[in-house]
Amino acid sequence: MEDEQLILKNRYNTCNEKIKRFIDIQIPVTTCNLRCKYCYITQLSLFSAEVPELPYSGEYLRKALSKKRLGGTCFINICGDGETLLPLKIVEYIQALLEEGHYVGVVTNATTTQRFRDISNFPSHLFSKLFFKFSYHYIELKNM
Ligand code: SF4
Repeated sequence: MEDEQLILKNRYNTCNEKIKRFIDIQIPVTTCNLRCKYCYITQLSLFSAEVPELPYSGEYLRKALSKKRLGGTCFINICGDGETLLPLKIVEYIQALLEEGHYVGVVTNATTTQRFRDISNFPSHLFSKLFFKFSYHYIELKNM
């Protein structure tokens, strides 16, 4: 019972935290594993593009976007030009920003199973500030 009260209290405190800024991170990945008809990735046939090697570590990103530098807790949205979760380092970035105490939103087509497995191994206290926005064409869902 005491544990449950502590969990509820932490959740309440988390929800009432003031968000200082909204930060939009654009990941320069211009390829995708789906082929949604309405998407510019499909229409411009960008699928041959390589998945980029992202230059910075999670720790570097955490320091660059620290709460101290930004003036407090922020809401950070992470979105690729193509499928956000294709570059390997994205998982590291998400974890680093959550560990810094920010809220993190990730736009994804939700089909990169290994990335979700990796994310599910994060310490459980990080999940309350993480959410996903699933985005893809319904026909692609039916084609899977
Ligand atoms: S999943 Fe997203 S990025 Fe990929 S083709 Fe569909 S709309 Fe474009």
